[in-house]
Amino acid sequence: MKHGTLLENARANFEAVVPLLVEAFGQDTLDTLRHPRSRTELRLAPRFEDGRRHVVHAFVVQHSNALGPCKGGIRMTGGVTLDDVTALAMEMTWKCALIGVPFGGGKSGIVQEPESLASDDKERLVRSFTRGAHHLIHPVIYVPAPDMGTNENDMGYMKDTIVYSAGQATTQGCYVTGKPVVLGGVAGRREATGRGVAIATAEAMSALGQKMEGARVVVQGFGNVGSVAALCLAEMGAVIIGIGDVHASVQNTDGLDVVSLVDHLSATGSLGGFMGGEAIAHDALLELPCDILVPAAAGGQITAANAERIHARVIAEGANGPTTPEADEILASRGVFIVPDILCNAGGVFVSYLEYTQETQQEQMSEETVRVRLEQRMKDRFQEVYATTQAKGLSMRDAAMYMGVKRVCEAVVARGALP
Ligand code: NAD
Repeated sequence: MKHGTLLENARANFEAVVPLLVEAFGQDTLDTLRHPRSRTELRLAPRFEDGRRHVVHAFVVQHSNALGPCKGGIRMTGGVTLDDVTALAMEMTWKCALIGVPFGGGKSGIVQEPESLASDDKERLVRSFTRGAHHLIHPVIYVPAPDMGTNENDMGYMKDTIVYSAGQATTQGCYVTGKPVVLGGVAGRREATGRGVAIATAEAMSALGQKMEGARVVVQGFGNVGSVAALCLAEMGAVIIGIGDVHASVQNTDGLDVVSLVDHLSATGSLGGFMGGEAIAHDALLELPCDILVPAAAGGQITAANAERIHARVIAEGANGPTTPEADEILASRGVFIVPDILCNAGGVFVSYLEYTQETQQEQMSEETVRVRLEQRMKDRFQEVYATTQAKGLSMRDAAMYMGVKRVCEAVVARGALP
């Protein structure tokens, strides 16, 4: 069965709320948001440890800067496409608007499987990307962050590359977020997305009159977002019964010890062979009966082909675009409550905003402050989106999209029409 691409799905989510906004803002305002303001293709040629130059393709997409500089992570995977990056940049526009930070939407992609690189070669590639995209990265133009396949070390190399070229000790203002704390990162940024996913999930459970204590959870993806979400949900009393990544999945109906699984993964490089659970097939993981399913890996995982077999009560979208519009319809007809990506995983960009503010103002923020502000913002926004579902009879996704797109339209109108 054919499923839509990430871009087709992102566009469908946008078009679903256009009829709710067209009267207030006009078709021409909405038209300005249908397409990105720029899509740049780069050919990088880093010299790797083998002494050869390797041609690597990369993309930078700026979707909208109506609310502020474009913000969005760098995805490094073998299969990422320019259209994927466009979809993800578009979603960043709505996400930043919804969570209430003064940023527009952007995204980058580097077409390379990071697992196939020696760590020095990954650093060379990240530095090569930074030099290649240097003219696009700036505190008032586009501020990248980690996404799938990149992490805080890579953001540190990016900052150093910019600083090295400028011949300075540091950057003036924030060029990249998600950096190591010692280089101007904010304490708690690395955990922010996963922690935010757990907070939004707890709000959803409470809205449905369900307890977190003892709730059975399945998590797909055990990288930054999935592992932190699993740890936080376990701390809240939930029982994590299944976890998987791209290579292996494990289950334990009595509950997996997530801390031990993190240790096992860092010691062996794989979820396979974990003694505290048994192996389960990749596709079967999503279909395990559970209360909460957290897709925290790639996009397009929950489709018309498997939606009927998903038995979760709540789906908390840690990943970007994990559910296709067709699957949305099937899940809605079965009463599954979805916490949509632009709300559920917005904790990362919210804390990136705190990092941006801290670095731009040469301030210092404690981890406690970051945690309190993250928790408050996630709770407030969840409640506002939930109230909108009740007031307008919309799904959680349509309510979140309606609120995000509306705010961007307001900014476009407020900027005026003259050059
Ligand atoms: P990561 O690279 O740290 O981890 C990705 C995980 O997903 C790995 O465990 C990988 O093995 C697994 N995975 C990849 N493809 C898979 C597949 N087809 N099936 C099962 N598992 C698969 O990435 P991350 O930063 O944790 O990002 C995960 C998702 O969250 C992405 O969709 C990303 O766009 C989204 N997201 C990340 C952030 C952030 O701050 N890092 C913020 C918002 C959204």
